[in-house]
Amino acid sequence: MKVVDIRTHVLLDPDFDIGATSSAQDTIVVEVVTDEGIVGVGETDLNAWIARACIESPGTHTMDQGIKHLLLGRDPLDPEAIWRELYVGTAMTGRRGAVVHAIGAVDMALWDIVGKVRGVPCWQLWGDAAVSTLTPYASLQPDASSMSIYEETMVEWARRAVQAGFTAVKLEATFDGPYRHKGLKAGDEKITEILQTVRDTVGPGVRMMVDVQYAFDSVERALRVTREWNDLDVFFLEAPLWPDDLTKYAELSTQSKVPIASGEWLATEWEFRDLAERGKVQFLQPDTGRVGGISQALKVCRLAADLGRQVVPHAWKTGISTAAAAHLAMVTPHMPTFEFLPPELSTSRLRRELVLEELVFENGLLAPPTKPGLGVELVPEAMAEFAAAAERVWPSAAGMAR
Ligand SMILES: [Mg+2]
Repeated sequence: MKVVDIRTHVLLDPDFDIGATSSAQDTIVVEVVTDEGIVGVGETDLNAWIARACIESPGTHTMDQGIKHLLLGRDPLDPEAIWRELYVGTAMTGRRGAVVHAIGAVDMALWDIVGKVRGVPCWQLWGDAAVSTLTPYASLQPDASSMSIYEETMVEWARRAVQAGFTAVKLEATFDGPYRHKGLKAGDEKITEILQTVRDTVGPGVRMMVDVQYAFDSVERALRVTREWNDLDVFFLEAPLWPDDLTKYAELSTQSKVPIASGEWLATEWEFRDLAERGKVQFLQPDTGRVGGISQALKVCRLAADLGRQVVPHAWKTGISTAAAAHLAMVTPHMPTFEFLPPELSTSRLRRELVLEELVFENGLLAPPTKPGLGVELVPEAMAEFAAAAERVWPSAAGMAR
């Protein structure tokens, strides 16, 4: 079997809002095409135009080759060996960052091919089932133009999520720092107030997490806020500090009673080793695409087991990423939950419309995937509409791929 083509699709929600803190408004979908007609599908979470350039650019010397060029003609059935070749072959430009994130989409598509060729769901390629059902969590980020509407909507959504069966919810509560969602602004006491209201609404049995998206500018501030949460049973606090300062993460992780989670932006198992060992973070949050694909996500899961950490993947994209995370969860006993918002509860059109997926959320759980590969199918009409929206925003870049 040989790879004969790699198609890159830059897709954009026509109604995207640049003031929203949401990477689910665009995506790159990669299709790896084989000479036997089997096509693997993958995606990754970074600027989609940049991702396409990373994959399609030719190289000029041994340390800086093109991803597409390296893959064409190659047997696709050993994704981990291919990952190493792509990583080493692009290292002078890549090694971390965008190129590794882009390799992630290709790697995901390769695993999809392997599953389809063997006729088994991807997770069965990696080991025995660690669980008999999957427990997803709902990320809640109301689209609100004012704090009072945000607050009301958050409480309402949390109530609806629990009514739908969710046993875990995550509150996106970013009212300060560089990534305030749609310009919302409030003091830190507002986070505690909302957590309290949501806890009162959902009751004691529901896991509650909070993501402040890098809002705090010091360890002291993060500790001051989390000290108010002693009675709220917060499962973890995500991304409290800027991710580069692992010394501060270590200080916070060792002093905070609320466990700390981080890692959605990181690439490779080596960055996660630093986050766990130097940053002393308890919950590692690889995004299956960004980390470098499934091959790297599996390594992060192994690393977490070795270091006694838990893994809770980031999956704020389309049904392709959520499928990849679900397959990982099947073989990872130290993954208590993972990000999975059912399409019907999502505000993102890409999440709702891009793929037909196998996963059906029922009574708080997902059944194990059984279809070969990742079990997702692209919807051509949605692809065409979202590709056209991307072309309108940057026509010259769209021309590059033709
Ligand atoms: Mg986050």
